[in-house]
Amino acid sequence: MSEIASLKELLAQPKQIVITTHHKPDGDAMGSSLGLYNYLVQKGHHVRVITPTDYPTFLQWLPNNPEVLIYTDKKTESESLVANAELIFCLDFNALSRINELGKYVGESKALKVMIDHHLEPEGFDDYRHWTINACATAQLVYDFIVNIMDERHFINKDVATCLYTGIMTDSGSFRFPTTTAEVHHIVADLINCGAENSRIHQLVYDNFSESRLRFLGHCLINRLEVFTEYNSALITVTKDDLQKFQITTGDTEGIVNYALSINGIRLAALVIERPDRVKLSLRSTGDFPANEICKKYFNGGGHRNAAGGFSDKKIEAVVEEIKSILPEYKTLLIQ
Ligand code: 5GP
Ligand code: MN
Repeated sequence: MSEIASLKELLAQPKQIVITTHHKPDGDAMGSSLGLYNYLVQKGHHVRVITPTDYPTFLQWLPNNPEVLIYTDKKTESESLVANAELIFCLDFNALSRINELGKYVGESKALKVMIDHHLEPEGFDDYRHWTINACATAQLVYDFIVNIMDERHFINKDVATCLYTGIMTDSGSFRFPTTTAEVHHIVADLINCGAENSRIHQLVYDNFSESRLRFLGHCLINRLEVFTEYNSALITVTKDDLQKFQITTGDTEGIVNYALSINGIRLAALVIERPDRVKLSLRSTGDFPANEICKKYFNGGGHRNAAGGFSDKKIEAVVEEIKSILPEYKTLLIQ
């Protein structure tokens, strides 16, 4: 592993660069990727952002979004960019399986790989890393990279600031999760000074849903929510028929699990979705309850302590039963 500061010298000359992030990118994945993109192009680099899959429309207004290449739409072009890159920045993930099929090409590429991430247990495919689980968002680490490692705060223009603000805002639950330290607020203040329009960004991300998505939320809360008071837990189950009926598209299910967590006393909330290929799980918890442990142990996944995910190839009914059967094991932690 090389020292991340030595990138300063490497990035002094124009390079062929690919930036990639995890599949089904969220606000932090897109905000950090396009934030870094908007910084590197100012330095004269040839840069492309490649996402493994599509992403929600509420992120498609980000500055220079049209420059993003979606791997599943442009496989040959993406593979060639990855193969010919001199540097590949891997943002907001630390295991190649998180970028699906693209992982094989990134792994094989002779490019130097730079990982910037805040998830637990990096796999170790990287040559350089800027990593800590104490960051509230990868966008926070990109800010730190530009300002403190590259010593180039002057490159944080309105576009960079807008992208990084979006990443920090979404991954910190709008500045409410415990990782939102005073330092994060200082960074956010600096991003506003650099041109990020905070109120406009909140509106573009959070007030951008379709009518059908709002009605879907109502359906989830009235017909699909189960509360297990004795375990301080709540579960929302979404079937493939629900997805079809409400014309759910990428991103529409994001945030729904948080409604279950907002019930007084609930420490663990789960959202189970019957996706076309497999059953997807999202867990959220409060305090020191390890949601990621459950995902890792039972559902092929992982994540952060309070926000984790995974999947199962079983039928949705079986997955729901499995979750219910796991709760007694964690009862002591759940009722604390
Ligand atoms: P979400 O519930 O929003 O899909 O994911 C929440 C967090 O859980 C993500 O930021 C990511 O860290 C983690 N996560 C979600 N799905 C998976 C998965 O399949 N594998 C792993 N290792 N982590 C996941
Ligand atoms: Mn993140």
